[in-house]
Amino acid sequence: MRSYRAALVGLFGSPVDENPTGVMEEAAFAAAGLDYRYMTCLVSPPDLPAAMAAVRALHLRGVNLTIPHKVAAVAHVDELSRAARLIGAINVVVNEGGRLRGDNTDGKGFLASLADAGVEVAGTAVTVLGAGGAARAIGVECALAGASLVRIVNRDPARGRALAGLLAEATPARAEYLPWTGTAPVPVGTDILVNATCVGLAPDTQTRPDIGYDGITAAMAVCDVVLNDPDSRFLAAAEARGARTVNGLGMLARQGALNFTAWTGVDAPLAVMEAVLRREFGIA
Ligand code: NDP
Repeated sequence: MRSYRAALVGLFGSPVDENPTGVMEEAAFAAAGLDYRYMTCLVSPPDLPAAMAAVRALHLRGVNLTIPHKVAAVAHVDELSRAARLIGAINVVVNEGGRLRGDNTDGKGFLASLADAGVEVAGTAVTVLGAGGAARAIGVECALAGASLVRIVNRDPARGRALAGLLAEATPARAEYLPWTGTAPVPVGTDILVNATCVGLAPDTQTRPDIGYDGITAAMAVCDVVLNDPDSRFLAAAEARGARTVNGLGMLARQGALNFTAWTGVDAPLAVMEAVLRREFGIA
């Protein structure tokens, strides 16, 4: 018999009005012929417990979490992936018959976008600029994927040291914190350099992290998490020095694809998702 009840997923965050995830996921559901709806929900911090309870009460198949709920939502799920436990934040929940499983696919999306570009993480020295949510996800996933050394470069020493300490303690990788005062040098021996700060994010697309760009070599893979501009000034500077570059748009599409598969159990139409993001960000 035909079911008239679509599977429901969505996004809880504040603000969410300019978040294109729902458009991307709905296009993917349509392309895959799946009867799913994605609801983009404005949820204020005091309402997060009620919103998470509604995931069970309304039998949602799952949700995405974005700013400011990624850390607070951890307390509302029944189970966490290893990476999510280490990162201390989740961006996706899957509802398995009332049991909520939380994961963090930001770093996994990053790894997938590296793999798409033919960049191998195992055995490499990774330098991460930043120590916020994106940097934590990327640092943890690179360490779990076999990076031999992860260096964290951050302005706020407490945040930077905390992330490097976590990686050194809880993953097989070596990790160290490097202070970021003035123009931070790019550590010699870096194989993969990642801008995981918010520098360069729209509307400030003319800014780039204050680092010694002459330290970038053609042997490096240089990656940016900034998602709305695949030709960020950071990546342009790296490209000019012959480095291989990987942009944040692929990371965003890849994490969306992982979430799609976690909810539906089928492979995501990645090309459709990337095309939607390009259109929504006005990228030719
Ligand atoms: P957070 O606020 O958690 O962290 C911001 C980080 O940027 C901190 O380490 C902060 O350093 C650093 N920072 C800010 N301004 C400067 C500056 N002028 N110079 C040097 N460092 C600076 O943000 P998130 O980690 O959540 O997000 C970071 C970026 O990642 C955003 O652009 C976001 O859009 C992007 N992102 C992309 C995703 C994708 O799929 N492509 C997924 C998730 C996020 P300090 O600690 O010293 O203040």
